[in-house]
Amino acid sequence: MPPFVCVIGSSNTDMVIKGQKLPAPGETVIGGTFLMNPGGKGANQAVAAARLAATAPMLGSNESVTTTSVTFVSNVGNDVFGRQARQQFEREGIRTDFVTTDADEPSGVALIGVDSQGENCIMVASGANARLSQVQVSMALAAAVSTETTVVLLQLESPVPTVEYAIRQSHARGMRVVLNPAPAQPLDPAVLACLHLITPNETEAELLTGIRVTDEATALKAAHKLHESGVPNVVITLGARGAFLSTRTGASLVAAPPVTAVDTTAAGDCFNGALAVAIAEGQSLPDAVAFACKAASISVTRMGAQVSMPHRHEVDALPL
Ligand code: ADP
Repeated sequence: MPPFVCVIGSSNTDMVIKGQKLPAPGETVIGGTFLMNPGGKGANQAVAAARLAATAPMLGSNESVTTTSVTFVSNVGNDVFGRQARQQFEREGIRTDFVTTDADEPSGVALIGVDSQGENCIMVASGANARLSQVQVSMALAAAVSTETTVVLLQLESPVPTVEYAIRQSHARGMRVVLNPAPAQPLDPAVLACLHLITPNETEAELLTGIRVTDEATALKAAHKLHESGVPNVVITLGARGAFLSTRTGASLVAAPPVTAVDTTAAGDCFNGALAVAIAEGQSLPDAVAFACKAASISVTRMGAQVSMPHRHEVDALPL
């Protein structure tokens, strides 16, 4: 039976205008170019997982053959964005049985302005994402393959009570729960003890622990604080430096392969999708983190979020 990854989270459509400057309140800035991309942390991570769960490329194609089953649990609106998102998930080989179309709320949308310096300004209307319910999660988990290699991957762009419910239920079913605490927000401490792994970036690690993470020593301190909260395994992603893994038996920095980065959007999402697949495959945590660093290093060499996610054969082609 192939390993199984269940991603629970948000799906958004990102609408980006790149212009000379960002408008001040009340100002209209004319000029700039428009781009529309599928996004949302949940959807980005599901796409990364689906591409990386696949193995060899099909003959005569760049597409890969999927051997691992990836399910996405999400809520979209009954509109063109929701329909496009669903089609995109299906093209990626993601199971969409638990992508629900909400009758009342529109699909999630992020309006993103980017100026000539790369500075951005983002407004998100969560729409249907804000209505992801415990009932949906409960049905999806009941249908999921319950083994200890099953990985449930969550972020915090969905309602916190739903996320906490999903963590408790998944843990009770013996699944391994990976939480990417982005964007960081306070969680019920009892829920942290149900996690297999938490994966903050430096900013999120600081928000969760109060410790400013600037190097290995401070990453270790922050990780210890998370261990004290009951999380057995911690990975703090450190951008171009790689990722710091801390377990109850030891800690180490896994270096990121050196690359020329052109766009780091969704690097963390790629990392988390990759990590979930590697854990579901039974790889050790150090190997899984190295695999995730390789995958994310490819994603930052390409523009965009979901489109930048590498396929499995590309990661396997990199040196160990
Ligand atoms: P987030 O996107 O959540 O802010 P990070 O910036 O820490 O997260 O990036 C996540 C992972 O992506 C890192 O742990 C690293 O493996 C990879 N990564 C990010 N930036 C680079 C880079 N410039 N070069 C190589 N790998 C990178």
